[in-house]
Amino acid sequence: MNVLVLNCGSSSAKFAVIDSSNGHELVSGIAQRLGSAQATLDFKAEGKKQSRSLHGAQHEAALRVVVELLEELGLACRIQAVGHRVVHGGAKFSGSMPITPEVVAKIEECIPLGPLHNPANLLGIQIAQELFPDLPQVAVFDTAFHQTMPPRAYLYAVPYEWFAKHEVRRYGFHGTSHRYVSQQAVRQLGLDPEDHAIVTAHLGNGCSLAAVRNGQSTDTTMGLTPVDGCVMGTRSGSIDPSIITHMKKELSCTADEVMDSLNKRSGLLGISGLSNDMRAIQAAAEGGHAHARLAIEKFCYSVAKAAAGMIVSLGRVDALVFAGGIGENAVSVRAQIVDLLGFAGFALDPHANEMHGRSLRGRITRTTSPMAAVVPTNEEYMIAMDAAAIADSAPSPGAEPLEFRTERTATA
Ligand code: ADP
Repeated sequence: MNVLVLNCGSSSAKFAVIDSSNGHELVSGIAQRLGSAQATLDFKAEGKKQSRSLHGAQHEAALRVVVELLEELGLACRIQAVGHRVVHGGAKFSGSMPITPEVVAKIEECIPLGPLHNPANLLGIQIAQELFPDLPQVAVFDTAFHQTMPPRAYLYAVPYEWFAKHEVRRYGFHGTSHRYVSQQAVRQLGLDPEDHAIVTAHLGNGCSLAAVRNGQSTDTTMGLTPVDGCVMGTRSGSIDPSIITHMKKELSCTADEVMDSLNKRSGLLGISGLSNDMRAIQAAAEGGHAHARLAIEKFCYSVAKAAAGMIVSLGRVDALVFAGGIGENAVSVRAQIVDLLGFAGFALDPHANEMHGRSLRGRITRTTSPMAAVVPTNEEYMIAMDAAAIADSAPSPGAEPLEFRTERTATA
């Protein structure tokens, strides 16, 4: 089944058309800098990268251009379902859902928890429903996979009524990636589908780790929002909350302004003062830039500490799996993280690590060491799989909507 996968952000809209039967991507792209004169639609189709100006377009105009593009490519009429990435599902969703007015209302209720993402996700849903009124639309939540966490993992040690009355708890994000990568790890690394303990490290612009026991998330590093956890491209990760009130006074600014800095001007960017992009920081570090080196050192230290924490949740570790732009590509970053986990027996195989683990089906540690491996993520494919499964079993009008949790192993 051909599925249009949409991921609408505040000033961008990523899209892809994926054949859910084999994972083939027929076209993919991003409309970015929406609302500005520099807005563009960058896409890859038939192996070629192209770009079109969207001058000043907002989301709706941009998605209309995407539909025109799909028509030009002869794909528009072949799309059978639309899958939407929705960032915050709170505790309301433990799996992907067909989009109904009730589901939209619940996503709206989650806006206070995900104010930076849910409004844009909802806008994408509304526009797609207008553009494709006859197609099934499915919401796939970043938070859903982590709904299996036990209270010891999801509770913060704050007054209990903050949880009971105000929904303050760890939700976790990147769930689609952690689910996909852990399923692939079981398959590719030959782990026992019924008895496995995996630490998944999704290291991209946003970074999070998860503990996955027998297909279920038992802990993760991101929290109420994605700013919690390890150091990221522009996010601080976990900090002492007193820093917020302290900096509010020091800078005579609002708590929102401090939060904005913790989300957008911290992490690798904050320490390096250069960039949030690991490639740029690595290049500067190689040229002797002290703060670039420090940013990488802090990043690796924070990821290794988080991985150790995930192992506590699991009680053992069968595999530490790297994914995301940094996890899949940054060889020396993986090496530093694995070295820091030497106390737990991890010993890098430098050659396998250089080869991105390819020669050893993903494995980058020695065969005598606990396994660390590279398993590329594919969130779009997972969204397409969920959307296709739900569209295939679409309920008859008036029936209770079917909630779907992917139990089967992904095949791509
Ligand atoms: P997103 O979270 O936006 O999907 P990605 O998963 O694409 O982001 O990850 C982006 C990060 O991956 C950036 O920090 C980028 O520098 C890093 N990255 C991508 N390729 C490489 C590479 N070859 N070496 C080091 N870092 C890389």
